[in-house]
Amino acid sequence: MVRNEHEMIIKLKSDLLDIIDIENGFFVSDDLLKNMLNAIKSLINAEEATLFSLNNCKNQLLIEASTSEKLEQTNCPQISIDALEVEAIQSNSLLFKLPGFEAYDLTMILMNNDSLLGILAIKGREEEADPFSHSILEAICQQIAKFLNNIRILAKTDSEEKRYKQLFRVTEKFHSSMNMDDVLGEIIHTLQEVYPTFTYYLLLSHDNNRLEDLPIKDLEYDSENIAALQAYVTGTVQLEDSVQKKRSVLYAPLKGKQGVYGVLQVIAPNTLVFPNNEVEFITLLANTAGSALENAQLYQQSKRLITDLKLINETSHRLNSNLRLAETMAYMTEQISHSFEAEEVGFILYVKDNQQIDVLKGSTEFFHKNAAEAYIQFTKEKIEKEQESLFIGDFQLIADTNVKQYKSIMAIPMTQSGVLKGFVLVMSEAPYHFSFETFKLLQSLIHHSTLAITNSMLREELEKMVVTDHLTKLYSRNYLDEKIHLSMNEDHEGTFILVDIDNFKSINDTFGHQVGDDVIIQVAGLINDNIRGTDIGARWGGEELAIYLPGVSLMAGVNIAERLLEKVREYSNPRVTISCGVSHWNRGKKDTYAALFKRADKALYVAKQTGKNKVIVQESDIVIDKT
Ligand code: GH3
Ligand code: MG
Ligand code: MG
Repeated sequence: MVRNEHEMIIKLKSDLLDIIDIENGFFVSDDLLKNMLNAIKSLINAEEATLFSLNNCKNQLLIEASTSEKLEQTNCPQISIDALEVEAIQSNSLLFKLPGFEAYDLTMILMNNDSLLGILAIKGREEEADPFSHSILEAICQQIAKFLNNIRILAKTDSEEKRYKQLFRVTEKFHSSMNMDDVLGEIIHTLQEVYPTFTYYLLLSHDNNRLEDLPIKDLEYDSENIAALQAYVTGTVQLEDSVQKKRSVLYAPLKGKQGVYGVLQVIAPNTLVFPNNEVEFITLLANTAGSALENAQLYQQSKRLITDLKLINETSHRLNSNLRLAETMAYMTEQISHSFEAEEVGFILYVKDNQQIDVLKGSTEFFHKNAAEAYIQFTKEKIEKEQESLFIGDFQLIADTNVKQYKSIMAIPMTQSGVLKGFVLVMSEAPYHFSFETFKLLQSLIHHSTLAITNSMLREELEKMVVTDHLTKLYSRNYLDEKIHLSMNEDHEGTFILVDIDNFKSINDTFGHQVGDDVIIQVAGLINDNIRGTDIGARWGGEELAIYLPGVSLMAGVNIAERLLEKVREYSNPRVTISCGVSHWNRGKKDTYAALFKRADKALYVAKQTGKNKVIVQESDIVIDKT
């Protein structure tokens, strides 16, 4: 049969061109190759065409596509690729009777620039009845080889483009997220998209196991996984091939500028060697992820530092604002419980030369119970011995399991000028509840607060001890309290006078506080001048003063108050007036100090309400206007 060989080649070329269908997914390679084989089959009237491709990694011929459905990989002939190449080049011919291919009628060697691409094997051709010239077969061979080579290059470019698009997308995502978990999730997600048949693990050095749906493993230092550790320590990619397990594993370090944050483990089944371009892509992804992780970690760190500083700052501020000690401690307890999610917070201070301890008011309820004793005692001994903070994650003290046990314990000594003043005990029931960062923060918080706390204690102690008020030189209120108590036990009667300067605010406003102070001193002076040595003139608080007259009758007391009223009116400069509330007790009637005070206060209130500059007496329930 005479045929136009030139036309045949043109036909083949045009068929091959048709195969490439860019619109419907360019490289569904199975379909593409099958279509190519079908085109050849029909062109040369064969029954079956099969493409054996050279797998570079394994240096072996494997069936890549066939027009027959029944073929199995096991049928691949084992032939020496090198010998085949040499022979093809030397003989300058692409048609051979190859060993192992006896089942085929025709085998064509597909070469590209002296290197083997594969073999096209044809079955069911009536060679004798319908012979082809050697030259047309060679030409077909060349066309197929060229086509195969081109689509492979295109496919590679296409997949690379896809990958770099992924890389670009993922990089963009990384940099828009400051959340570590999101970054880790994105790495895995991208890899699963690009290489769906591979398995991935993130081996992380930090405890990052919060995300349960991520394949995260701990990177342990005593791990037997030497390649993973090597990748972590050296910061370079490590490959591990296992012929036995029929898999190849790649370890890519998640590397940032300041360090390595973990290792990405990629397991490829059924492959013995990772192709270079895959290694390159995965490395690039791991490096990008490393930088993103670093950013996220730095961001989270700085955010934490800011909140830490805020806490210390706020607390210091509060401590310096002269709160009463109980309020200060309640505030600290609240801050620590809240910021550290602690269940119990106790401030334990030494009293009387460290022989005794005192649980400060404001500590949580637990510390005032007996159960706290064991914890306090243990901590006390430990801190005294070691002079250092305690950080315990799994504390075991009491054998009795019915008692609530605190497993997580932090204890910070409170020292001032090198002297141990006490300690803070912070506890939680759950083991390993506090992080090391929390512990460090607590240390610095206590370090910053100890001075303020001890000062505040000293001030309150001093207040108790002080007998005279330093502005007016009158007695202090504590002293007055004590003396009234004493008198109510020992004497027969007594009179109590509360004194409040009228419209004192306007004195301050008009003349300033200095002058205001001076007016208080003047009134105090007039009180002292008008009472006897056994009487007690005291500063009740602010511009309120008080007089207690032990053993003095109500009449006498009222007289003294009225005399004082006149003197103040006369001698004060700038001129002020005062109002007095008077109360009285005697042994015949049941009475208390609190009731005595309350009556005087009520009388003073009435004086203020009814025009000021007057003395009002409150005798039990009857109010008497004395002016
Ligand atoms: P009233 O006649 O109702 O007593 O009027 P008042 O303006 O005196 O009112 P009030 O007693 O409520 O206010 C007392 C003011 O005295 C408030 C406070 O600013 C001022 N003050 C309290 N203690 C001192 C002090 O030690 N020195 C000076 N300069 N002012 C004081
Ligand atoms: Mg007043
Ligand atoms: Mg007042």
